[in-house]
Amino acid sequence: MSGSLSALVRNYVGGGWRHSSAAETLPIRNPASGEELGRVPLSGASDVDAAVAAAKAAFPAWRATPAPVRARVLFRFRALLEEHKEELARLLTTEHGKVLPETRGEVQRGIENVEHACGIPTLMMGDTVEEIAPGIDSASWRQPLGVFAIITPYNFPVMIPLWFWPYAVATGNTVVLKPSEQDPLTHQRIVELAEEAGLPAGVLNVVHGGRECVEAICDHPGIVGVSFVGSSRVAEIVYRRASAAGKRVQALGGAKNYLIVLPDADMDVALEACHSSIFGSSGQRCLAGSIVVGVGDAHPEIRERMLDAASSIRLGNGLEEGTDMGPVISAEHRDRVKAFITQGEADGARLSLDGRAASVKGLEGGYWVGPTVFEDVAPDISIGTEEIFGPVAGINRARDLDEAVAMMHGSRYGNACSIFTTSGRAAREFRYRAGISMIGVNIGVAAPMAFFPFGGSKGSFYGDLKAQGRDAVSFFTDQRVVIERW
Ligand code: NAD
Repeated sequence: MSGSLSALVRNYVGGGWRHSSAAETLPIRNPASGEELGRVPLSGASDVDAAVAAAKAAFPAWRATPAPVRARVLFRFRALLEEHKEELARLLTTEHGKVLPETRGEVQRGIENVEHACGIPTLMMGDTVEEIAPGIDSASWRQPLGVFAIITPYNFPVMIPLWFWPYAVATGNTVVLKPSEQDPLTHQRIVELAEEAGLPAGVLNVVHGGRECVEAICDHPGIVGVSFVGSSRVAEIVYRRASAAGKRVQALGGAKNYLIVLPDADMDVALEACHSSIFGSSGQRCLAGSIVVGVGDAHPEIRERMLDAASSIRLGNGLEEGTDMGPVISAEHRDRVKAFITQGEADGARLSLDGRAASVKGLEGGYWVGPTVFEDVAPDISIGTEEIFGPVAGINRARDLDEAVAMMHGSRYGNACSIFTTSGRAAREFRYRAGISMIGVNIGVAAPMAFFPFGGSKGSFYGDLKAQGRDAVSFFTDQRVVIERW
C-alpha cells in the first residue's frame, strides 16, 4: 500500500509499492495552508528502467488476455471509483486546492473515460472487405504495441492520467505513468483501486519524479510511445526528444483562450459562462477563458457585469461550503501569476481589479491570488500573449466579429475558444473560421466528453492523434492489414 498521506510517496512497480532510488525529494503541500502532506521522490533513470522492465514482462500475458476479460477489470475499477468518489474528491481538494464541486466534477470526468474504455471489444474492431481481387479478402486487426509512458500535469491529476491509461491497458498494452510531482497523492489512491479491481502486476506502473525522470522516459528504448500533457514549452521538448528516439508521441500543451461576446448574446448566459470559465479552478485549466472580447454594444455590459461578479468571489479552503475559489498550486506559481499582473500594469493594460493582495483569514500560509481583471490588453504584451494560468481576466473591445476573430488568430495557441450569440449564422461562421480545436457556442468551457477527441492545435498541440475516444484507441494500437487467398 502507498498509504494515501504517507510521508514518502512510493513508486508502483510490478504490482508492488517500492521506494525510489532517488536521494532528492520534494514536498507535496496543501495549497490552502502550506502544510506539508508528504514528500515525492525525484526518481531517475534506474527507477524508469525498473518500471519499464516490469511493464515489458507483463505485456505478453496481458496482450493474450481476451479483450472482454480486460474490459471486466475496468468495469470493476469503474465501480470502485464510483464507490470512492467523495473520498477521492476530498483528497484532491486537499492536495490541489480547487473547490469540492470542481474536484467531484473532475473525478466524474475520469470515470467517464473508464466507462468508455470498458467498450474496448467494440472500439478495437477492425475492418474487412471481401473479394478485393478474385478469391482474395482483406481485413485489418488492431493490435497493442507494448509499453507506453504517460506524463501528466498538476492541474487535473485524477482526470488526465485517465484520459490515457485505461485505453492503453484496455487495448492490451502495459503502462509507465509519471504523474505531476506537485499533487501525486490522489492518483496513488486510484492505483490502489485499480489493483483492487484485479489489474495484474506490471500492467500499470508508476514512477514519481520531474525532469530527469521524463528525460529517461523519452530516451528509453523499451518504451514505444509517450502521451504527454503540460505546458507548451515542455510539450515541445518531449515531442521532439521522444520522436527522435523513434516513439509515437502525442503532446498536449498550453493555451490562451478567447471568449467572444456578440451584441445579440443572452447576456446572463454569457456572463455566467465567461465568469466560471476564467475563474473556475483559479484559472488553472487549459480550457480556461483568458480574454473576453465584447463586440460593439456587448462590451460595456459584459465589462461591467464581469467586474461586478469577479469582485464578489469568496476565496478560501476548497473543502468548506460557500468557498467560490481556492488557492493556486504553489508559492512559486502564486509569485509567477503576481509577476504577470505587475508586468501587465507596467505594459499599459488597465488594471480594474487587482488580486495581488488577497489573503484568507486563518490560512495566511496558503497560496492566494484574488480575482484580477485587466482591460485594454494589447496583443503584444506578456499578459496578451502568454498563458498566465491564474484567475486573471482580460476584457477587450472589438468593432465586429471579424476584428474579434483576428485578435484570437493573433495568438500562437489554439486550444479552445467560445462565441456567445443567439445567431445561428454567426455561430456557424465562427465555427467555420475559428481554426481552433475545441469550440464552444454559448458554452464557456468546451470540454469534449470521453467519446470525443480532446486536444488543441497550433502551439497547443504536438502530434496528430489526440486524447480520449477513438483517437486514444488508434494511438495505442497499430492496424495490421491481412490479405488472404485460400
Ligand atoms: P509542466 O509542463 O510544468 O509539467 C508537466 C509534466 O512535465 C510534469 O509531469 C512535470 O514533471 C514534467 N516536466 C516539467 N518540466 C519539465 C522539463 N523541463 N523537462 C521534462 N519534463 C518536465 O505543466 P504543469 O504546470 O504541471 O501543468 C500546467 C500546464 O499544462 C499548462 O500549460 C496547461 O495549459 C497545460 N495543460 C494542457 C492541457 C491540454 O489539454 N492541452 C490539459 C491540462 C493542462
